[in-house]
Amino acid sequence: MSPPDRTPRPAGAVAPRILMTRLRSLMAEGRSLEGRLAGVVSLVARSFVADVCSIYLRMENGDFELVATEGLKPEAIKRTRLARDEGLIGLVVREARPQNIQDAPHHPRFSYRPETGEDPYTSFLGVPILRFGRVIGVLAVQNIVSRVYDEEDVETLQTIAMVMAEVVTTESQSGAEELADVAVRPNRPLELVGRSLSEGLAMGSVHLHDPVVAPAQFFASDISSEEKRLRKALEQLRSYVDAMMVQQVSPLAGESRDILETYRLLAHDPSWAGRLFDAVSSGLSAEAAVDRARREHRARLQNATDSYLRDRLHDLEDLDNRLLRLLAGQTGIANTDHDGAILVARRLGPADLLEYRNAGLRALILEDESTTSHAVIVARALGLPLIGGVERIMTVVETGDQAIVDGDTGHIHIRPEADLVAVYRDRLASRSQRLAEFAAIRDLPAVTEDGVKVELMMNAGLGIDVDNLDASGAEGIGLFRTEFQFLVSETLPSLTEQEEFYKRAMDTAGNRPVLFRTLDLGGDKILRNTRQNREENPALGWRSLRFALDKPGLFRRQLRALCRAAAGRPLSVMFPLVTTPEEFRRAKALLFKEMDWCTKNGREGPSEVSVGAMIETPAFAMSFHELKGEINFLSIGTNDLHQYFFAADRDNRFLSDRYPIINKTFLLFLKDICERGTDCGVPVSICGEAAGNPVMAEIFALLGFRRLSMPASGVGPVKRAIRNLNISATLDSFNALLEENSSDLQKDLLSLLKHSA
Ligand code: PEP
Ligand code: MG
Repeated sequence: MSPPDRTPRPAGAVAPRILMTRLRSLMAEGRSLEGRLAGVVSLVARSFVADVCSIYLRMENGDFELVATEGLKPEAIKRTRLARDEGLIGLVVREARPQNIQDAPHHPRFSYRPETGEDPYTSFLGVPILRFGRVIGVLAVQNIVSRVYDEEDVETLQTIAMVMAEVVTTESQSGAEELADVAVRPNRPLELVGRSLSEGLAMGSVHLHDPVVAPAQFFASDISSEEKRLRKALEQLRSYVDAMMVQQVSPLAGESRDILETYRLLAHDPSWAGRLFDAVSSGLSAEAAVDRARREHRARLQNATDSYLRDRLHDLEDLDNRLLRLLAGQTGIANTDHDGAILVARRLGPADLLEYRNAGLRALILEDESTTSHAVIVARALGLPLIGGVERIMTVVETGDQAIVDGDTGHIHIRPEADLVAVYRDRLASRSQRLAEFAAIRDLPAVTEDGVKVELMMNAGLGIDVDNLDASGAEGIGLFRTEFQFLVSETLPSLTEQEEFYKRAMDTAGNRPVLFRTLDLGGDKILRNTRQNREENPALGWRSLRFALDKPGLFRRQLRALCRAAAGRPLSVMFPLVTTPEEFRRAKALLFKEMDWCTKNGREGPSEVSVGAMIETPAFAMSFHELKGEINFLSIGTNDLHQYFFAADRDNRFLSDRYPIINKTFLLFLKDICERGTDCGVPVSICGEAAGNPVMAEIFALLGFRRLSMPASGVGPVKRAIRNLNISATLDSFNALLEENSSDLQKDLLSLLKHSA
């Protein structure tokens, strides 16, 4: 086979390593910025044997201005400006990746500018100058003869562009006059809308999650010691990833191994490592080599639409970031103080946010929008507002920018004007006043004006929210989502880890009840590193109790951990997504088997056990009474019951407001469940998110429910609402409203309850 038709590198071209050495001394010379840019274009033109080398930078209005050139007419400098989408430079900007074009004048995007004297040049290679994935400039070379720039040329030019990005940024941060009109960092006020994943309001300055490489670290002074540093960091990274694989001991391992294996393969990928070592041997520091790889992965990620490819690029970026941290000698990420910071990230890994928890964060903004990502679970537990699904957020903000995060509406204001800041300051002040009011009634019981007691419990799932129990004013934990421990772990928790976790929750709760809900995986709660979600219709699929019953090894291990954790104390267990009475019986039988196991093996099991089920499917809502005498309690999961009742995906943003929970048929359905539960002697509580809404809590109390479990942040507002409610004075009008065909039930109920929350 004949070798590919390639233009040989022109005679006189300089090896990348020599180019880096020269670039390094050029940067160290202490010239003015203009002098350095001129030095760079002339160095590159000589080293590449290119007829032209130019640098364009992004201006405040979005145009790209020629700021340095070797080969084009010097009078074009600071005169030639191209619109963001204009010419081949515009193509590099739009694609955010190198453009290697052999016949530039005939390219449809070629834009002729007579003042530059550009027409005789045939070949063009342009690379973006990237800062946090945003194109702030373009570095381009051109040749008169037709020439194919090879891969090494492209990489070398990208490395120089990376150095340029940092030089320009540093100079602009130190106020260089030449850069006064250059838009190195975005600086206009900006309003963005994302998806509110955790409520709350915060104002603060942005901290970008990515590790930053300082320009001072760009060049290696001693290549062999730099190679050693890189080798060591790679070894640490690989043994960390290998350890993740070894710890995978579970019935899910078959599926999860696949994905972890891909991650491991990437970490061991010789071509990734090879490129890093090549970059180091060309004179870059280990940090700069990894940073360069990261910029490439990120730029590709921005253009990738295929979800598998995006996942792999995310993995690669994750590996790049880990490697950068290892090179900086950090094992954790967030021991530093980020007091008052708003953390902005593409997405956060399982442990990342937990590591940040003592760092004083105020809010989070993510590109990721999955409602049950680890970050969402942890942010809710920490009471941090979180907005997700904010595309390209990383390219429009920078560390230090001011931001307002309105987790109630999903609005984000970046670099807000002073009057907007004043508005939000007022809102924050009235919010803290309300919090102080809730704190004042924290230790009072939730009893209505006419003396009806409504027990208020909180929902939990992580150690951090169990720790909130005292502060919340709740009387216990009415829903302990045990799957959270699984969702935030890199690997599946062992029997001992689960036992310890449950024990700690019971210890913290003391005499207050904790209702453990067994694993509720699948549907919207997908374990990291499994392919569990490859179902056509996951919400109706193999999830929750269905999945647990089919994985008895996994399920029994959890039940055993619960029995062992109780050790001499009462234990309450409830099963999620029960669809038929038979499923409840099968699950309960497994629980009793585990209690027997404790007795037979000399382990102390629970002193007594209370077994319940969640009502989340209409089928079970219509059949639970068959379990009279076999079941101790019931709890309605309104999140799921609502979605199955209306056949409307709870996470589909187009449906989120279409079927309000205040709906006559649905409320009557709930009332009927409550009454039938009472008839069977089985108490029915409510534990979906709706219970944390003060109006809904009053409605539930009027429907007959006497126990509500809700997010911790809802307990204060709900307690105040319940204490202001008078059931006997309101009930007749309430029932009448439910019976009549109101055209706007929500409005009528609100005016009946005169709610002021
Ligand atoms: C529910 O469905 O209402 C519920 C409490 O369970 P989860 O939100 O965890 O599915
Ligand atoms: Mg549910």
